[in-house]
Amino acid sequence: MKEVKVLRLGHRPSRDKRLTTHVGLVARALGADGIILDEKDPKIEKSIIDVAGRFGGDFSFGVEEKWRKLIKNWSGKTIHLSMYGQKIQELESELRKITDRLLIILGSEKVPGEVYEIADYNVAVTNQPHSEVAALAILLDRLYEGKKLEEEFDGELKIIPSEEDKIVKEKD
Ligand code: SAM
Repeated sequence: MKEVKVLRLGHRPSRDKRLTTHVGLVARALGADGIILDEKDPKIEKSIIDVAGRFGGDFSFGVEEKWRKLIKNWSGKTIHLSMYGQKIQELESELRKITDRLLIILGSEKVPGEVYEIADYNVAVTNQPHSEVAALAILLDRLYEGKKLEEEFDGELKIIPSEEDKIVKEKD
């Protein structure tokens, strides 16, 4: 995949702060290149960019209110994550063959019906209702077959894995 972006639809600045921040952090940690919200939220932008600044990597933050146009004009493939979609385990090998740019679409509340029609794939991580954070994490991990767990970020701060302590190393 050339570039992977996550589009978060229906973000409500008054209610979804933590969840949308978590979508961004999971996207970054597990291999996506950026997040796009359908509504401005400077606090979320700051917290995601702060983490990326301290822990490293190139992760972008964008806002696109005209999200229908974004999906329709996306130069690459689009995957909409939904419990109503096709089972991920039946599609994953086909999805791994995508060499284009990829846009992963996630909802918050009810997603407008047209998204199901304009997305290239509607993918379910089980056909049970759960969370956009979990669905995104599992999709990215399946797409990259676990390889992103090994990725080094080269940030100002680096956590040294430890059995019993919190060890954080600062870059010299
Ligand atoms: N009730 C909403 C609907 O009908 O669209 C779903 C709300 S759910 C809390 C928020 C988002 O999590 C969904 O839009 C979808 O992107 C994701 N999601 C939840 N369960 C999922 C599943 N089983 N598979 C894939 N994505 C899921």
